Amino acid sequence: MPQWFDTLLAWKAAAVAAWFLLFFALERWRPAAPEPLAVTGHWRRVGRNLLLWALNLPLSLLLVLPLTDWASRHAPAWRPDWWGGWTGLALDLLLLDLMIYWWHRANHVAPLLWRFHAVHHLDRFLDSSSALRFHFGEVALSALARAAVILALGFPLASVLVFETLVLLAAIFHHSNVRLPPRLERALSWIVVTPSIHWVHHHRIRRDTDSNYATVLSLWDRLFASRSARARDPAMPIGVEGLAEEAAPALLGRPFRA
Ligand SMILES: [Zn+2]
Repeated sequence: MPQWFDTLLAWKAAAVAAWFLLFFALERWRPAAPEPLAVTGHWRRVGRNLLLWALNLPLSLLLVLPLTDWASRHAPAWRPDWWGGWTGLALDLLLLDLMIYWWHRANHVAPLLWRFHAVHHLDRFLDSSSALRFHFGEVALSALARAAVILALGFPLASVLVFETLVLLAAIFHHSNVRLPPRLERALSWIVVTPSIHWVHHHRIRRDTDSNYATVLSLWDRLFASRSARARDPAMPIGVEGLAEEAAPALLGRPFRA
């Protein structure tokens, strides 16, 4: 992989780490919702989320990055000249955000994909650590889907890497339990997905779980009629209706159980 790629990757890691630590501190200083500690066990829950994230690091290096790089190098070069530079990057980010909206929605609709995605949803409370909690199977399946999209639409590696950074920053923000000034959050929610929007996606009521799929821009749920009418309530139970949270080893085996 080229030198600029390693530099960009290092910047991504530094930006995401700093952003995560910022929100991890802010949400403990000014929480929006009280955690039902008797249910979750705060540090046990955070530890479980970080363990699931740590297991995905070798997968990222061994599968996700090489596959993404391979796809961007083998995509047919059919893009017109105007689809380049900063305009091209902006268009790529918009299209990738649209794709991830439909991929996330597919994860809720297709039973096989939901088996893996449910592991993310089984968290009984939300904070910035929830943004890192994904089953390795979901990470691998997402990498395959993304490679197919890159091959079809010829996204350059730089666009994909910038988008992946944005996704992580957005996910840490909208899973976080930071108490924002209500007027600021309302204004932001017109443009990006805020905690008030995404927490409803984690509401332990299936109708809400199957809504609010957007990741970065909030417009997709309005455009495709998947925005829940429910307002976030700090006492709202989090999780999956009818399913129980499990310890990390059981969560890893969960998608493969009958
Ligand atoms: Zn989901």
